[in-house]
Amino acid sequence: MEVVIVGAGIGGLVTALALYNKGHKPVLYESVGAMREWGVGINLLPHAVRVLTELGLAERLLSTGIETAELLYFSKHGQRIWREPRGLEAGYAWPQISIHRGVLHGILQSEVSRRLGPDAIRTSHHLATLETHGSLPRLCFVDRVRDEHVLEREADLVIGADGIHSVVRSALYPDERPPIWNGAILWRAITESAPILSGRSMFMAGHANQKFVCYPISKCHWDAGRSLTNWVAELRFDPGQPFRREDWSRGADIGDFLPSFETWCFDWLDIPALIRGTDAVLEYPMVDKDPVERWSFGPVTLLGDAAHPMYPIGSNGASQAILDADALARAMADYADPVEALQAYEQERLTTTSAIVWANRGQGPEQVMQMVEDRAPDGFADLDDVISQTELETIAARYKKVAGFDRDRLNRLRDD
Ligand SMILES: Cc1cc2nc3c(=O)[nH]c(=O)nc-3n(C[C@H](O)[C@H](O)[C@H](O)COP(=O)(O)OP(=O)(O)OC[C@H]3O[C@@H](n4cnc5c(N)ncnc54)[C@H](O)[C@@H]3O)c2cc1C
Repeated sequence: MEVVIVGAGIGGLVTALALYNKGHKPVLYESVGAMREWGVGINLLPHAVRVLTELGLAERLLSTGIETAELLYFSKHGQRIWREPRGLEAGYAWPQISIHRGVLHGILQSEVSRRLGPDAIRTSHHLATLETHGSLPRLCFVDRVRDEHVLEREADLVIGADGIHSVVRSALYPDERPPIWNGAILWRAITESAPILSGRSMFMAGHANQKFVCYPISKCHWDAGRSLTNWVAELRFDPGQPFRREDWSRGADIGDFLPSFETWCFDWLDIPALIRGTDAVLEYPMVDKDPVERWSFGPVTLLGDAAHPMYPIGSNGASQAILDADALARAMADYADPVEALQAYEQERLTTTSAIVWANRGQGPEQVMQMVEDRAPDGFADLDDVISQTELETIAARYKKVAGFDRDRLNRLRDD
C-alpha cells in the first residue's frame, strides 16, 4: 500500500516512524527545500514522551532537552499563585521534556532518514492540489522556490500533516474560513541566562491580556550551571484590527513589546533584562480554527495542526500531534481495511482534540491567572483571600483530564 504523508513537521515525521514500526513505508512530501532547525522552545507532555519512548527516541531527547520539574503561575506583580510538580517529579512514569523545536525536528528527521531510507522525505515538494473524486486520491506538487511543477501522483492513503494552512484540509473543506485570531500576539525568543527558579521550572506570569511564559530547553547549558531560556511575551490587542498572516519564522523587534514589560522586575527575575538579552525574536498571532466534524474522507485524513489547530496553551501543540500519530499507526495495525482504520483513528482522537481547542479558548489551566487579576489587580497579602486552594486544584485537574494526561490514567498504560 502506498502511503503518502503531506508535511514533514513534528506530526508528519512521528507518523512516519510510528507507521514504519507497524510495517508500512510511507513517503513524506515537504514544502521547504532545506530542513533547517526552525523555531524556539516546545514542550512534550508525558503522554507524548511515552509514544516517543516506544519509538526508541527517549535517550536522544533526554540528552538535549530539559526534564521539566515544576510548573508555576505568578501574578503580574510576580506573586506566586500556583505551583505543581511536573513529569517524573509529579509521579508520571514518563518525564515532561522542554526542548528546542528545531532540535526535536532534527532528531525526528534523522531517525526517519535512517530507518525509512534517505529518500523517504522529498523536500521542495509543496502540495498544490489534491483531488479526491477519482478511485484514488491524486496529488500535484510544485517547487515553490523555482515556481515549477515537480510531480503528479496517486496514493492509496493520504495523511495531511501540513500544518495550520493545510492544503489537504482545504481540499476537504473548500469553504472554510482562514484561521481565527483572538487578538493576542506572541513574541518568542531564547536568551542565555542564569538558571531561573529551580533551573528546571516552567512559569507563566500575568493574565489573559499580558503574559510572560518562560522555561529552559538545553541540558548542556543546565549541566554547565547555565540556562538556555525560552520565553514568550504575549500582549492582547483589538481582534478587529488586521494582523499579519501567521508565519512561524517571521522576525520582530523587542521595541514592539518591551515597553509593556518594562516594570516587570520581580525580586526573583528581571524580565526586561531577559528580553534585552536575546539576539532574535519571532512573532506569531494566537490563531486557531473551529473544530470540524470529520477528518477522514475515504482514504484521506488529517493529523496534527492540520486536523486541530489550537492556541499554544497548556503545552499541547506538538504533544497532540504525536498522540495522533500513535493512534493512527495503531488503527492501521488493527484494521485490514485502511479506510476503516482512518475512521477508527478519527473516532479515537477527534472529540478529545476538539475539547482541547475549546478549553484553550477559555485560557485552559491558565485561567487562574486572570481570576487573580480580576479579584486582586493591585496584588495580595494572602493568596487564600483571593482564590482557594480547592479552586486552583480543580481547574488544574480538569484540564489534565481534557488534555489526556491525567497521571493515574496514563500510568496505568505502563502497568498494563
Ligand atoms: C517552521 C515552524 C516553526 C515552529 N516553531 C514552533 C515553536 O517554536 N514553538 C512551538 O510551540 N511551536 C512551533 N511550531 C508549531 C509546532 O511545531 C506545531 O504546532 C506542532 O508541532 C504540530 O505539528 P504539525 O506537524 O501538525 O504542524 P507543523 O509543525 O506546522 O508542520 C507542518 C509541516 O508541513 C509543511 N507543509 C505545509 N504546507 C505544506 C504543503 N502544502 N505541502 C507540503 N508540506 C507542507 C510545513 O513546511 C511543515 O514542515 C512551529 C511550526 C513550524 C512549521
